Amino acid sequence: MFHGTKPGWIEVISGVMFSGKSEELIRRVRRAVIARKKVQVFKSHLDERYAGLYSVSSHDGTIVEAEPIKDSREILEHLRPDTEVVAVDEAQFLDPGIVAVANALADGGVRVILAGTDTDFRAERFGAMPELMAAAEIVDKLQAICVVCGGPATRNQRLVNGKPAPYDSPQIMVGGREAYEARCRHCHQVPRKNEGQGELLPDAAGR
Ligand code: ADP
Ligand code: ZN
Repeated sequence: MFHGTKPGWIEVISGVMFSGKSEELIRRVRRAVIARKKVQVFKSHLDERYAGLYSVSSHDGTIVEAEPIKDSREILEHLRPDTEVVAVDEAQFLDPGIVAVANALADGGVRVILAGTDTDFRAERFGAMPELMAAAEIVDKLQAICVVCGGPATRNQRLVNGKPAPYDSPQIMVGGREAYEARCRHCHQVPRKNEGQGELLPDAAGR
């Protein structure tokens, strides 16, 4: 783990869905609790998949639970004065203010751990994740397993009715009828992605 001479820094855990970001975040939270640090965990209210997943019980019987938040401001509102570690999951869903909040916390001596997927289903930037990665002292980018070829997966494949979702579908879908797969660059499909742009590398065709 990173050790500054003074407390306070930012760690980002990025990667596609199923790459183990939440597992890694919880591992770090559990170890911070073992080290008797005061920990608070937040996650976007947009993700309700894993109720209870974040419960980490400490030696003195207190249980650390993830607090659902709608925006980055709520982190500051919910922050307790003695908190030493702040962990945030699904950071890609938060507003751009999360960058200033993470920096302010780290400047003030808090260890900030943020997990999130840095690219959306189009393989384009997701929320403030790129800025958070730039602000961080430490970045880990995890891979899942491509469900098509078995290689390291670095892309979120969105499927609607079993078919790859086109480029112009919304970044965040409401209603949840879509499904996601982890895929590698080569197996990832985004129909209509380069429409009207022509081939970037015409000579590469057929390689
Ligand atoms: P994330 O937070 O990055 O979405 P999680 O920590 O929730 O990831 O889940 C990681 C777990 O998902 C793995 O330990 C594994 O058991 C499971 N899993 C399911 N599909 C895959 C996949 N295609 N590649 C890797 N792990 C997968
Ligand atoms: Zn693949």
